[in-house]
Amino acid sequence: MLIPFREITRDALRRRYAVGAFNCLSVENVMGAVAAAEELHSPIILQLAEVQFPEAPMELMAPVFLRAARDAKVPVAVHLDHGRSIETCIRAVREGFTSVMFDGAELPFEENAEQTRLVVRLAHAAGVDVEAELGRVGDTGFGGEGTAAAAADVFTDVEESARFIARTGTDALAIAIGNLHGRYTATPRLNIARLREIHARNAVPLVLHGGSGTSEEDFKACIRNGICKINVATAIQIAAAEAVAEYLARGGSPGYIGIKRRIIEASQRAVAEHIQLFESDGKA
Ligand SMILES: [Zn+2]
Repeated sequence: MLIPFREITRDALRRRYAVGAFNCLSVENVMGAVAAAEELHSPIILQLAEVQFPEAPMELMAPVFLRAARDAKVPVAVHLDHGRSIETCIRAVREGFTSVMFDGAELPFEENAEQTRLVVRLAHAAGVDVEAELGRVGDTGFGGEGTAAAAADVFTDVEESARFIARTGTDALAIAIGNLHGRYTATPRLNIARLREIHARNAVPLVLHGGSGTSEEDFKACIRNGICKINVATAIQIAAAEAVAEYLARGGSPGYIGIKRRIIEASQRAVAEHIQLFESDGKA
């Protein structure tokens, strides 16, 4: 079922789990993700980031995402990840995405708040929910989401988060608490105390980006303290690439069908692992 973002994230907030938001760059990724969600009776979010459009054009992928969501036996939201402009967010709204992320995190506070406010007004007029970001999530520079920005991240400020949410009316907020995008070379330690303060101050679902290399302990602490959505991009593509490499190394047929099948299976396994880690299994 295609279900609004706000319903999926609000349920996660109420019942203390996190819904996995999986970046899918292919039909194989989408098939694997939905199969995992159905197998484990879990809600999921299918998403695509603007930086991924060259390999997975939004207007081509949208019908795949939406049809897979409608046909799924579990709740599925279709989300734009890291929209870098208001125009991109509007394109996603037009394609039928149930929510959009406007990423103004690199802008000064006032400008981020002002532009996010405008996206919220426009998106809400179309019944579409919005995720915004405050604070800087660093990037390891490994083919994940986002650009290769400096890894020097600035944690989300508690008071600013409250002002930002009140000003913008955003439905969800991505925060920076030491999390990084992409493949980690060392497991980061998240600032759970900061998360707890932000959660105590705000009622909206909080989002953790960079779910590919965080430790199990930190994931659990995040879920206990207000994180309702966790983005996973890199882990799926690594799992798919490794599965294909292993298949070919074992002398598997280089034919496209065999490779496709390995990508679907690897995507399903990677998504299933994260669903269990995020405790969203059995919630649909
Ligand atoms: Zn992100």
